[in-house]
This record gives sequence, C-alpha cells and structure tokens, in this order.
Amino acid sequence: MSGTLVLAGHGMVGHRLLEHLRADERFASWRIVVAAEEPRAAYDRVALSSYLDGRSARDLTLTGPEVLEDPRVELRLGVPVVSIDRAARTVTFADGSDVRYEALVLATGSKPFVPPIPGHTLPGCFTYRTLADLDALRAAAEPGAAGVVIGGGLLGLEAAQALRSLGMRPHVVEVAPHLMPLQLDEGGGAVLARLVGRLGMGVHCGHGVASVDAGPDGRVRGVTLADGDVLPARSVVFSAGVRPRDELAGPAGLPRGERGGFLVDAHCRTEDPRIWAIGECAAVLGRCHGLVAPGHLMAESVAAQLTGRASEPFPGADTSAKLKVFGVDVAGFGDVHARVEGALSFVREDHAAATYAKLVLGPDGRTLLGGVLAGDTRAYGELRSMLGHELTGPPERLLV
Ligand SMILES: Cc1cc2nc3c(=O)[nH]c(=O)nc-3n(C[C@H](O)[C@H](O)[C@H](O)COP(=O)(O)OP(=O)(O)OC[C@H]3O[C@@H](n4cnc5c(N)ncnc54)[C@H](O)[C@@H]3O)c2cc1C
Repeated sequence: MSGTLVLAGHGMVGHRLLEHLRADERFASWRIVVAAEEPRAAYDRVALSSYLDGRSARDLTLTGPEVLEDPRVELRLGVPVVSIDRAARTVTFADGSDVRYEALVLATGSKPFVPPIPGHTLPGCFTYRTLADLDALRAAAEPGAAGVVIGGGLLGLEAAQALRSLGMRPHVVEVAPHLMPLQLDEGGGAVLARLVGRLGMGVHCGHGVASVDAGPDGRVRGVTLADGDVLPARSVVFSAGVRPRDELAGPAGLPRGERGGFLVDAHCRTEDPRIWAIGECAAVLGRCHGLVAPGHLMAESVAAQLTGRASEPFPGADTSAKLKVFGVDVAGFGDVHARVEGALSFVREDHAAATYAKLVLGPDGRTLLGGVLAGDTRAYGELRSMLGHELTGPPERLLV
C-alpha cells in the first residue's frame, strides 16, 4: 500500500505515529497530510503545567524543523477534519478542502468534561487541556483572590497548582470521599489532603457543586456546593474527567465504544479496514486510556501495520500514577482498592511523619496486585516492577 495517509489530530500520540512513519524507509513514498485543530504543532501536553512555571510554547514543542520541512508531510495547523466520507474515501477539512486517503488515522484525543451545572459558561470558568486554556487562565488570574478547581483527580491537583503559581488561593472540590480517587485509597487520600492543606490548598471532598455564581460584574464570584456552602472564587477550573473526541464517528457510521471513543480492535483497527484510531480517542476493545504511554503503544502498532510489519496486539494498561506537583509524594499502582476477590491488604501508617503505605496482595499472600504510597514514594519504582509477581520479601519489610 502507498498513497496518502491522513492523520486527524496532531497531539502527543498522533505525533508519535508521525515520527515512526517518517523514520521508516518503507513509508518513504507516502504523502502524509496532518490535520491539527490547534493552531500549534504537537507539544508536550504531559508537561503543560510547566508553561506557567516559565517554560515557553517553544520549549514544549515536539515538532522540530525536520518535521516542518519534510516534503512528504503537509501539516495543516488550525484546520481540523470536519467529516469523513468512507465511500469516497475522502476527508473534508474545516477550510472546505477535501483529501482522498488510502489510510486514515484518527488521533483526536479527549476534551475536558464540563458538567452542565448552572453558571458553567460564565466568564472566569476554564478548562485545563491546551496551551490556549493556560493562556486564558493566566490572562484572567487575580493574584490574592481565591480560585476553585472542580475535580480532585491528578489533573485537578495540577490545575490547583497552576492557580497557586498564578498567585491565587486554590480550593479543590471533589465529589468522591478523598482526593485522587482513581489512584489512591482513603488512607492515601487523607495523607495527601493533609500535605496539600499544609501548603495552603483548601480541600473539600465528598461535595458536589450546585452552581457557579456570578458577581455584579457578570464574572464568576463563587461556587455553591450541593450542601449550600459557598466558596468565593474569581476563577473556576473544571477538571471533572475527560471525554474522547469522537464526534467524527456518528456521521461517518463508525461505531463507538459504550462510553464513547472510536471503537477499535486490539490492533487499533476500526471496522473500516482503511481507518485506525489511536490515543485517547480510541476505545480499544471498548476501553479508552487517558494516559500517554498506552497511546504510544497504539501508535507503534499502527505504524507497524502501515509499513507492512507484524503488529503486537495492545496489551492493556494500568492507571498507575504519581503526583508530580506541589512537591508532594503520592503514588498508586495496580489494584489500589483491593477489588480482586480474596485480596489481602497490608498497611503501614505514620501519623507524625504523614506517611502511608499499602500493599495489596493476591489471595496467595505473595503476589503483588497493587499499592498506595503517600508522603514517601521512594519505593514506587521497585514495587511497580514487582506488580503481578511474587514479592521479594515480606510485606512488612517492604513497607518500611
Ligand atoms: C495538564 C495535563 C497533565 C497530564 N499529565 C500526564 C501524565 O503525567 N502522564 C500521562 O501519561 N498523561 C498525562 N496527561 C494526559 C496526556 O497528555 C494525554 O494522554 C495525551 O496527550 C494523549 O495524546 P493524544 O494524542 O491521544 O491526544 P491529545 O494530546 O489531546 O491530541 C489530540 C489533538 O487532536 C486535536 N483534534 C481533535 N479533533 C480534531 C479534528 N477533528 N481534526 C484535527 N485535530 C483534532 C486536538 O485539538 C488535539 O490537539 C496529562 C494531560 C494534561 C492536560
């Protein structure tokens, strides 16, 4: 196969695919048309927060001159794909132009979910996904004023850190009983809340948000919680999860996963043999993955298929994660909530030192299924490498 490949989405995963293809001789005769909705070429979204700590958009770019000057690559910045005609094998771009493809890869990522509560569109409300979002947040920052982040997951805490670095006083509202509910258990979440609380962050767990309220200037003035309490706020950042960008699926007749995303098999193939989906927009065997590492595996797999090599089926991915802001050490990996039947938990907690560690073992008492570390994550790398294997020592010793 050769001809034109259209890549819809130039984010972290789309760019990884582009790198693989450019590096492969077998793809040398292809033309690659990249549609980028954002006005910038791919950048390091994982490091997005560093943009508020002095790194520039240029520092964050993933796209060097070798890509921009490659005659095989046509990068259309700020021109998203708006529709796909599978019968004609063409995509239409926002500028009205059409391109016929031999292969189409969808890498459209996710968008932040904004719950439709009253006031969610008021001036002063933001999301936290793109450089443009951060520009808007920075432009509106009022040093000394309070800001509220709705959602206490990993990204919510990054957004709270962002408000702090803009001189605002951050509060986080989380509907679950503790922070980072996907990666931590209650004990780990409690230590995290204490640590970030000491740094001046307000933590409000177990609370829903009823409304975002406007002041006399028409801009955000506060957030009313479901129990009636009011938190003053001049900026509100929504960080309540993401949704896959799969709006191209319906009109093109491509199936979606149950919770959204382009439905693909373990090789990232849609039901159309000319169309693949990779990254956060792909529902691989029905499941979307919100981290970059699984997306990179998908990009590798599709690059292999497009260059006529054998591709490995997607092996799945866990939600292990380590907080990378506030200088606070917390991490969770594997089955943090001990959901496997018969799982055994070993916990060690030191209130004075504000540390908490938990290991989750299989019913055999030896196989490591998961764990939580808060206040001290030095053992994270070693423990993660044991995931699914027998522990190399008694859990009591490993927790020390
Ligand atoms: C603040 C922050 C911190 C993060 N930290 C981590 C972390 O520590 N570890 C981790 O693993 N992950 C982290 N992530 C998640 C990580 O950034 C994503 O998993 C990764 O960017 C996914 O890559 P992607 O290419 O699938 O999507 P994206 O990077 O979102 O790129 C998709 C691109 O496609 C564009 N697009 C959408 N529709 C169209 C269309 N129709 N036509 C053309 N273009 C379109 C979008 O505008 C976007 O530019 C973080 C994310 C954020 C926001």
